[in-house]
Amino acid sequence: MQIAVVGSGYVGLVAAACFAEIGHEVICVDNDQRKLEALQRGEIPIHELYLPELLQKHRGNRLRFSSCLREAVQCSSVIFIAVGTPPLKNGDADLSYVEGVAREIAQSLNGYKVVVEKSTVPVYTSEWIRRVMRLASCSGNDFDVVSNPEFLREGTAVTDFLYPDRIVIGADNERTCELVKSLYLPLVNGAYYSHPDRIPEPTKITTGAKMIVTSAKSAELIKHASNAFLAMKISFMNAVANLCESVEADVEEVKAGIGSDRRIGSQFLNAGIGYGGSCFPKDVAAFRSVAQEAGCPILLLDDIIKINADQKKRFVHKVREALWTLRGKRLGVLGLAFKGGTDDIRESPALEIIQQLLNQDSSICAYDPAAQRRAHEVLGNSISYASDPYEVAEGADALLILTDWEDFASLDLGRLKKLLRYPIIIDGRNLYSCEAMKEYGFQYVSIGRPNVELSAPAVFDREAALSAIP
Ligand code: NAD
Repeated sequence: MQIAVVGSGYVGLVAAACFAEIGHEVICVDNDQRKLEALQRGEIPIHELYLPELLQKHRGNRLRFSSCLREAVQCSSVIFIAVGTPPLKNGDADLSYVEGVAREIAQSLNGYKVVVEKSTVPVYTSEWIRRVMRLASCSGNDFDVVSNPEFLREGTAVTDFLYPDRIVIGADNERTCELVKSLYLPLVNGAYYSHPDRIPEPTKITTGAKMIVTSAKSAELIKHASNAFLAMKISFMNAVANLCESVEADVEEVKAGIGSDRRIGSQFLNAGIGYGGSCFPKDVAAFRSVAQEAGCPILLLDDIIKINADQKKRFVHKVREALWTLRGKRLGVLGLAFKGGTDDIRESPALEIIQQLLNQDSSICAYDPAAQRRAHEVLGNSISYASDPYEVAEGADALLILTDWEDFASLDLGRLKKLLRYPIIIDGRNLYSCEAMKEYGFQYVSIGRPNVELSAPAVFDREAALSAIP
């Protein structure tokens, strides 16, 4: 099928490449001329596993890039809207990009089209899209609007798209629903999973993806409620971690205990410095606004947001407690991205913590395997940047771990200890065991676990020393 994807960001670009991978002809549209030219030159604007392979395979064949929305609409039967829905100051989602695209689609129609919301949007958005398109003089027979929320996670976006837990289609009529379902057929009937050239599955899942068909409003709510629920798991575990610190329990032990209950599940129970990224913070805030406007406020969401904000302040407090004063201290920071596996720094807890530490006059040298360029655009030269974790540690008063990159969990601790000015590691992601840190002689501060203190120097035994004198 010929489809258009409007917006070539983390979601649009991945969706476009994956739709091409499962056999569709795709035009990916963006109004950011620089991004578009980079894509047309064969550059890859985001760090995402398997995306380079997919773009290499399909660019110029089944996947084209264009700035012309009109042309893309006219030669496609299904148009996905995958533009940003950033937060407004009051927490509502800013839907002006979605509205602008809907109006442009309406003005470009040359026959029946299905418009699909891929962006994360509040309930009732599909009705608003319909209304905007009618106002732009489209007849209701010329188009339908479907909600098809995206659940991919940055870092594993390609495999999340191709091997999804479920595909949700929110359609208010049968014909449209069937059309959108057919787009995903190779994933639903499992044909893609027996393809010799397929992107390798993350686990041994080779059966078809589960398809859930709902009303458009339910689909819109499914996405917001899913993200709010995941954010809740993280905030819940952070609150438990804080309690663990007060009573000297170990949050990792508590996590293993509760996460092995299948009703709870072990994922998203990692205590740390809080969630970030372009989705959870804005989606929890938008969901809170939606519920409030509907007259059913969900007060739990207020606590999720508050715990998350406090978690970053608590971490800065830990740094201060470990180092006494921060003014003039040189801190090595591992991680700038909001999580491992991505170059995305939007709402990154690492950046917020860095800003708080800079405000207290410490100096920072940071390293991130993928997010350094983007971080530089925001932080400029207020910090310095290193080319590997060991350069970060060189001469630092303490090493701070702020992003859960896999590589950061297997560093040469002996080498780090020699490079650091003081053997202090403050780990916001619990990447190391307290035992290992004790063995290497670090002072180790983590989240929800007892601190590992430097072993106290042996008490000077004056009598023994005197008696040893010949
Ligand atoms: P993004 O900022 O990376 O990409 C949005 C793209 O849309 C940009 O390239 C921008 O230039 C383009 N754009 C904006 N207005 C346009 C217009 N009028 N015409 C053409 N292009 C236009 O955003 P993203 O992270 O890809 O998120 C997109 C949506 O998907 C959001 O609603 C987000 O909440 C949702 N989502 C994101 C993720 C994620 O992990 N990033 C996961 C699931 C859902």
